Amino acid sequence: MFLHSAKELKQRQLRCGKINSLIKNLEFESTPVCNICSSHDLSVISDKDRYGNPIRTAICNECGLIFLLDRLTNKSYDVFYKEAIYRRLIYQYKYHGKAISSESRLNKQTQYAAGLLMSIDGLIDIKEGMTLLDIGGSEGGVSMAFNKKYAMNATVVDPSLGEIKVTEAAGLRSINSNFETWETDQKYDLILLCRTVEHLYDLKFVLNKIRSLLKPGGVFFMDFLDFNCECRRYGPPQNVSRIDHCFWLTSPTALKILPFLGYRIRARLYTLDQAHMGLLLESGDSKPIREYSQIEESIIYYQTLNDEWVMNNRPKTPFKTWEYKLKKKIRNYIRIYSN
Ligand SMILES: [Zn+2]
Repeated sequence: MFLHSAKELKQRQLRCGKINSLIKNLEFESTPVCNICSSHDLSVISDKDRYGNPIRTAICNECGLIFLLDRLTNKSYDVFYKEAIYRRLIYQYKYHGKAISSESRLNKQTQYAAGLLMSIDGLIDIKEGMTLLDIGGSEGGVSMAFNKKYAMNATVVDPSLGEIKVTEAAGLRSINSNFETWETDQKYDLILLCRTVEHLYDLKFVLNKIRSLLKPGGVFFMDFLDFNCECRRYGPPQNVSRIDHCFWLTSPTALKILPFLGYRIRARLYTLDQAHMGLLLESGDSKPIREYSQIEESIIYYQTLNDEWVMNNRPKTPFKTWEYKLKKKIRNYIRIYSN
């Protein structure tokens, strides 16, 4: 039913224990207001994250944004990423503590870029020499692929010094900074935000900043991991929520929130992988957030998943029942007497 069991989740959380104690010493804050629509009308859907940290996740009852109610301060998130607490946490949770090499990440980025280039082929008009901004571009694999195909003029911004050094070595314009604090006068024909949106500290600020950096006719591509798809795979919200994802979108909420922030949706891409959705966007007029009845459905869905998680992971009672014990005794007698 789910991709892992309660027992496996517990083992993963035990492996993260040491890193969780490091995280406990960082500074936390509570954010009881929706980052997108400023509503205080929230539903709390989880009281811990998948690593076992006691932090809450909420859904905004107005626009459907899913976000961490308890999160690190921006300064602590800087420490969390720069001192590689994040990477170590992922390695423990997913790979039994085994580190993933820079080459292997670059390979994954190249593979991802191939899929993305295939998906957007002909949907947008990219010409040689156009400017490309890759936000959170890591080792630069995606920008390199765009450069190779279209001979674009690419800039990569990433907070990780180790990762941006690889980008720099490949000859791309590389900036070691948070996008939030980076200042520029340049405008861009194409802006990419790949596998990054969930990690942003201030979602509304960044999406507004991106819109201000688009040239007239410029295109913004972003993807996101659909929270509800992740729940379908891993179980109720506490199995999916994570300290490194301050914000989550779902397919229906993204289609409401982005037009509210002044984006026109040009195309939706369902081809990236099963849980990721891609969007090609351009600047447009801000649309009001329409009534969003699916929020109730989402909450009922999380309750159903909670029930299914409990039922799927219930102890195997036959081993404890008196019938089982009696049958075992009889079998033992038979074995003793037949010998
Ligand atoms: Zn909201």
